Amino acid sequence: MSEQTAAKILEINNLTVSFDGFKALNNLTFSMKVGELRVVIGPNGAGKTTFLDVITGKVKPTEGQVYFKGQNLRPYNEHQIARMGIGRKFQTPRVYLNLTVRENLDLACNRQKGVFHTLFGKASKIDRRTVNGLLETIGLTPKAELQAALLSHGEKQRLEIGMLVAQSPDLLLVDEPVAGLTDEETENVGNLLLALAESHSIVVIEHDMEFVRQIARTVSVLHQGSLLCEGSMDEVQQDPRVIEVYLGQQEEEAA
Ligand code: ADP
Ligand code: MG
Repeated sequence: MSEQTAAKILEINNLTVSFDGFKALNNLTFSMKVGELRVVIGPNGAGKTTFLDVITGKVKPTEGQVYFKGQNLRPYNEHQIARMGIGRKFQTPRVYLNLTVRENLDLACNRQKGVFHTLFGKASKIDRRTVNGLLETIGLTPKAELQAALLSHGEKQRLEIGMLVAQSPDLLLVDEPVAGLTDEETENVGNLLLALAESHSIVVIEHDMEFVRQIARTVSVLHQGSLLCEGSMDEVQQDPRVIEVYLGQQEEEAA
């Protein structure tokens, strides 16, 4: 392993994913340093979700490799890759609605120890401190004893991000976390991701441009399964190729 590879959390070379000959990802090259917060944007059908599916092992590449912390992920299945330290948040929240906010976080902290331990065992002091810290981070301390079913959509999103963090992944993958959220909730989720970025490597897939502006340092634009361009939000928004693919999409939506 070269020095250069070791400093990268993700390194993706010439990645192609074909579905019956259709290339959802087409010779994609992507690389990200440890500790980076990266936003990936692109019009519908650009290959964003497939990109996450390949990193998490849900879909195997037709060609090319994904290296995570210098290790080729090809031989590993989805569960093994999750255990290696890649956590994924899906678009819709997957929290236990009949449990309280605290119980959801307890469960996530104790995944390895099993559900029985969490529900019937006494939480250790360390676990309690971890959960209290997580509640603070996600801004849900005042709602800790509330049933998750009673949370707003945005609060559920934050709870699920907290549950992901509880499993201490090295890399967090977050798919469209603010879809359907109010402006205020969007800002809360943005601030949470910025706080987590202090100590995690994060990939956020996003559509909402305002939100991207709030959180983005480096933006990668996907188009037809390839990297169209990469840079700061300003650079990307002024790139004629980006303007063209986004305008094209607006025209389609208007039609
Ligand atoms: P995005 O998330 O950027 O909207 P996707 O990664 O979901 O894009 O999809 C990229 C393209 O690949 C789309 O044209 C989609 O129809 C196609 N695709 C995705 N998954 C499959 C699949 N399992 N079988 C066939 N085609 C697929
Ligand atoms: Mg998608």
